[in-house]
Amino acid sequence: MKPRRLLLALAALGAAAMSHAAVPPVLVIHGGAGVIKRDLTPAKEKAIRAAMTKALQSGYAELKAGKSAVDAVSAAIVVLEDDPDFNAGKGAVFTHDGRNELDAAIMDGDSRRAGAVAGVERIRNPILLARAVMEKTPYVMLSGHGAEAFAQSIGMPLVDPSYFRTEERWQQLQKALKEDAAGKSHEDEETAKHFGTVGAVALDAQGHLAAGTSTGGMTDKRWGRIGDSPIIGAGTYANSDCAVSGTGWGEYYIRTVAAHAICMQVSQMRVPIKRAAAVVINQEIPALGGNGGAIALDAHGNIAIPFNTDGMYRGWIDASGVPHVAIYGDEDDGSSVPPAPTPADSTDDADDDP
Ligand code: ASP
Repeated sequence: MKPRRLLLALAALGAAAMSHAAVPPVLVIHGGAGVIKRDLTPAKEKAIRAAMTKALQSGYAELKAGKSAVDAVSAAIVVLEDDPDFNAGKGAVFTHDGRNELDAAIMDGDSRRAGAVAGVERIRNPILLARAVMEKTPYVMLSGHGAEAFAQSIGMPLVDPSYFRTEERWQQLQKALKEDAAGKSHEDEETAKHFGTVGAVALDAQGHLAAGTSTGGMTDKRWGRIGDSPIIGAGTYANSDCAVSGTGWGEYYIRTVAAHAICMQVSQMRVPIKRAAAVVINQEIPALGGNGGAIALDAHGNIAIPFNTDGMYRGWIDASGVPHVAIYGDEDDGSSVPPAPTPADSTDDADDDP
């Protein structure tokens, strides 16, 4: 090789190595959009903040140990799935006919491998089964009994469906059923019907991103209904530039392919992640009649947490290594989010959390 060619080749190798140089890890989590202030007692708020902090610490410990973004996302989500205050795993909402049907997905940004499960009723930690689908099968999504049979085949124990039941979720369903019977529209209740879904996005020390989401879906959903969370590109997506986990009225996230729509702007149009996320979550989805929020993270560690509901359980640990948790939109902790931008604002950078 001529000396000049050799130099160029070495420079290219250096650049490639630099793009995977150690970077400060970042973890962002959500515990669902649609928080209604009057619904939260001080004790409940304290419990939510403690659980969010525990999930952050659990995921961040993986990143600090040099483990992958996928490991961090799984670890953070397992904590929230096991906590009955969130609509994922134990504490999931009930379907119209009184069952708990769980959806989850995980995606590794660098390889763009993904795994998902939909409509499972006997899996304690659906995020772990979604990960097993990604790592141990040639498929992306398994549903219902087939997913549960796969779990058994890899030695993952099944739980009795009663494991997921909490009295609070049961009462939420009873209220929704009464409203159904009275012919009342659920419109005012939509935010209450979809809150508590959990998700995480992470950037590991190798500069790789991952995203994951886990949910019981929406209270009073028809059996067999599958939301956006396990649909790759809708509620969950990651590539090497961007990772997103959504929470909100799932049908709108599917129709806008929300998570993918955010990442494509970042990857292909080099739109800053805050603006890309705000356009989809605070403009496109509300314009169709939907609502909700998302967490988004780019490969430089920039975070976006747009939402258009009263609040959103959210937390993050950035390069400072300090966990932050916020709930309401008006929290004066440096994490407050401006109101949804109007179309006229769309060229401005949307400043929100971190
Ligand atoms: N997006 C979820 C669904 O529609 C619900 C939520 O995020 O709370 O299933």
